[in-house]
Amino acid sequence: MSEFSMTIDGKAVTGESTFGVVNPATGEVFAQAPDCSRAQLDTVMDAARQAQRSWRKDEAKRRQTLLDCAEAVKAHAGELAQVLTREQGKPLPKAMEEVIGAAVWFQVTAGLQIPVDVVSAGPDVRVEVRRKPYGVVGAITPWNFPLLLAVWKIAPALLAGNAIVVKPSPFTPLSTLELGRILRGIVPAGVLNTISGGDQLGGWVSEHPAVRKISFTGSVATGKKVSIAAAPDLKRVTLELGGNDAAIVLDDVDPKQVAPRLFWGAFENCGQVCSAIKRLYVAEAIYEPLVEEMAKIASGVKVGNGLDQGVQVGPINNRPQFQRVRELVEDARKHGAKFVTGGAPLGDRGYFFQPTIVTGIADGVRLVDEEQFGPALPIVPYRRVEDAIERANATHFGLSGSVWSRDVERATEIVSQLECGTGWVNQHLAIRPDAPFGGCKWSGIGYENGPWGLAAFTELQTINVVKG
Ligand code: NAD
Repeated sequence: MSEFSMTIDGKAVTGESTFGVVNPATGEVFAQAPDCSRAQLDTVMDAARQAQRSWRKDEAKRRQTLLDCAEAVKAHAGELAQVLTREQGKPLPKAMEEVIGAAVWFQVTAGLQIPVDVVSAGPDVRVEVRRKPYGVVGAITPWNFPLLLAVWKIAPALLAGNAIVVKPSPFTPLSTLELGRILRGIVPAGVLNTISGGDQLGGWVSEHPAVRKISFTGSVATGKKVSIAAAPDLKRVTLELGGNDAAIVLDDVDPKQVAPRLFWGAFENCGQVCSAIKRLYVAEAIYEPLVEEMAKIASGVKVGNGLDQGVQVGPINNRPQFQRVRELVEDARKHGAKFVTGGAPLGDRGYFFQPTIVTGIADGVRLVDEEQFGPALPIVPYRRVEDAIERANATHFGLSGSVWSRDVERATEIVSQLECGTGWVNQHLAIRPDAPFGGCKWSGIGYENGPWGLAAFTELQTINVVKG
């Protein structure tokens, strides 16, 4: 399990050098990943450009290939999940969910249509609009759901007729490299390439002349850099960036009933979800009982190595992120926060942090205003719901948000006032392969998933025909 290779032009390729991948449950390097050089990247891009010329021609074959990919992922689910838990930290059953999710995404995407719109069909004139692939797509992914988020890009890019070069995060390159290996005999050589390296490699992909489209998932700061790197060549970009999702709980809910869903909306994947609940605004009338219920759950959660039986929350994925969560928690402490649960790291090995429920702070403190991306949730009371909506919207972020109430109509009306790409009522984090996902404001540009996500990997061609 320590030999990992890139997939370039259908072949296993090692790097001229390698870099260590750390298991966040131990803090120790457990595998080496190839470090793709600039010269190797040129080889990848040549292969992709070449392979795309024939790949674009046969839509039926592409559809079948995606179905075959789904089957291959399912057949290798056990080994993919093991690698994912080791490099990412999430509990093994959750890693398995991610792997199966990846297979489902291949399958559902295979069923999407690439429509031809007929604008005019007279006896002498025909005008139609077709969707064409860009050519070579560069995909850059983060470390929280490395496998699933790669497939969100690979499946629609390939169905549309593009070739793709996928560069995962240096913290979690292995599951993507393994995916590339597993799909070697299934996707034609050069069509799907998986490479690994540091952040610099992401920069090279973003500015490479062979790439016509960049699909990026990651932080706002890096998304802006990608946008700048892509601009001189007018590459198209889709940016799926960070969030600081608010959940607004109205005064008519039963705290005991909603607390488990709210808790896991915030603490799923150790809080490392772009669209997790990151600020919880609760009506004053039910504030105390709800905090109490959330605290009960937080203190009963089993935190530990994702490979151990019964673990519900794993470690934070990497040291810089671990330090960042600590920093935000310490800043909250300085501002008078009360830690109803947690507030400190856990154990002396790896990057574990106690599930932390924070009260006594409000907007204006970093833990509320910034994306913590970790297991520390501020719960803030509000008196008037208009005020909660205003605070939810007073941010550069706009990924998703939710409203919780027995009155579904009222909650739906309120959620529609949130400035974000996805609104949920009485749930959070329900993301589907058949609905668009994307952010407003600094949370992104463009959408993934469903026909909207597929459209992001195509450009229009209007064909005007008159009888000769
Ligand atoms: P990051 O921005 O640090 O890294 C993301 C990827 O970009 C990595 O592969 C990294 O190597 C690469 N990269 C770094 N510098 C680069 C550069 N200059 N040019 C090109 N690529 C570069 O993000 P992260 O810490 O890996 O992920 C966490 C962030 O991702 C959070 O903000 C989270 O909210 C966001 N995220 C968003 C979504 C979404 O769908 N909106 C989903 C998951 C995560």
